[in-house]
Amino acid sequence: MSNNDGKICFDAIVVGAGLAGSAAAMVMARAGLNVALIERGQKAGGKNYFGGAIYTHAIAEVLPDYMDRRPPFERPVTEAGFWMLSKDGALTRLTVQGGKLATQPADAYMTSRALFDAWWAEQAQQAGALLIPKTTVLNVIRDGSGQVIGVTTDRAQGDVYAPVVIVCEGVNNLLTQKLGLIDHDLEPAHIALAFKQVIALPMETINARFGLSDEQQGIAASVLGDVSLGLPGMGFVYTNKTSVSVGLGMMLDAVIEYRLKPYEVLQRYLRHPAIAPLVKGGQLLEYGAHLIPEGGYRDMPKLYTGGALVAGDAASMVNALHWEGTNMAIVAGKLAAETAIEAHRRGDFSSATLAQYEERLKERFILQDMKQYRNFAHFLETHPSFMDTYPSFINEALEQFFSAYGQPKKQLFKNIMGSLTSRRQFLKAVGDLLSMGKAVMGW
Ligand SMILES: Cc1cc2nc3c(=O)[nH]c(=O)nc-3n(C[C@H](O)[C@H](O)[C@H](O)COP(=O)(O)OP(=O)(O)OC[C@H]3O[C@@H](n4cnc5c(N)ncnc54)[C@H](O)[C@@H]3O)c2cc1C
Repeated sequence: MSNNDGKICFDAIVVGAGLAGSAAAMVMARAGLNVALIERGQKAGGKNYFGGAIYTHAIAEVLPDYMDRRPPFERPVTEAGFWMLSKDGALTRLTVQGGKLATQPADAYMTSRALFDAWWAEQAQQAGALLIPKTTVLNVIRDGSGQVIGVTTDRAQGDVYAPVVIVCEGVNNLLTQKLGLIDHDLEPAHIALAFKQVIALPMETINARFGLSDEQQGIAASVLGDVSLGLPGMGFVYTNKTSVSVGLGMMLDAVIEYRLKPYEVLQRYLRHPAIAPLVKGGQLLEYGAHLIPEGGYRDMPKLYTGGALVAGDAASMVNALHWEGTNMAIVAGKLAAETAIEAHRRGDFSSATLAQYEERLKERFILQDMKQYRNFAHFLETHPSFMDTYPSFINEALEQFFSAYGQPKKQLFKNIMGSLTSRRQFLKAVGDLLSMGKAVMGW
């Protein structure tokens, strides 16, 4: 930090000590820049919440020796996939285990964001960044030409100056709007409200109920079917060492339109005959909710302007189908930092120089995936059957297939097809499947 004419000056300011922010601060501090990492929470992670599992490829990119630094991981994800719930209590599991999921360190680990983000920000501090908690950035400061040169905060004499500001403010993209990078609030139809409970259970109970041998095995399941009242939404179940995270995400417009009470929807889900036995007798440890920007590519703001860059949820960098947001945030934070370092090297923080950030994102999975899935985010809005009707059909079909009714099999197949056509036309289902394939492939 330097003091120019009574001004507090840094080489770079990062707004938000979440995943993207601490990654950006770490990379810049390691390159020798004076970095202010400003966080509105009491401490890093204090305001953050997710499902969830965090991906190690992204952590390793920023901090290759992360495992030696004892990250606060819960269980590794050694089994992952879809569970489908039927109304009559059946559960079909379409999961994968072993193979790549059995490698060490694992591809992903369950974690608590309160603990992980505090540890992640500590790594940025150890690299030399100055973490300034309990401070909300209110706006950006511009010079006469419109170039961003700092931020105003809610502290007395709290203006802070730097030639580059990296905005990692998460889903509430107020600064991104003030920067003029996006000119509207995200629509409720493009935002998921995710709510969950963390339920404490003895480790042995979790192992026995989920078929895990020890705490080195863990399950991450996306849950479809009788979960979200037939509205666009998806449940999840994650096993921690001595707790289970169970929750679901629903699109905010549906929550508003149908006046849903999230805790009632969650209670209903927790009472489902396939879910209730998994959490029976557990003690409620946490109850929380958080928004997820799921609008995809079409909701992404412009990613830079003179003196500022935006990364992570603030830029809608989320791939909802794959539950990928943590890795996009961390890698985007790193790429924004590398762009800022290059701008320092050139002594040029103009929009033209910072445009490199977008080029870097294009070379990586972030912009490539966001672009490929550009139609998928909106596909589920118009095809909620994929989250309810079709998973229920698969359940019922399998139930019938593996039950003996003492009837000729011809009747069995008639029953199975009958249960589909009573919900939707068979051809419509085939058409929907093709449309989904197109939406995922980006055709
Ligand atoms: C229920 C749920 C489950 C999820 N599960 C997964 C999963 O399993 N895997 C996965 O990869 N992703 C998952 N995600 C998505 C993932 O959590 C996000 O994509 C990721 O946290 C984005 O990181 P970020 O750094 O961009 O934003 P955040 O983590 O939200 O960090 C933003 C930070 O900025 C701070 N801040 C905001 N405004 C200001 C301001 N004006 N001044 C100062 N500080 C400010 C906030 O306090 C916060 O610390 C899930 C999300 C939810 C809600």
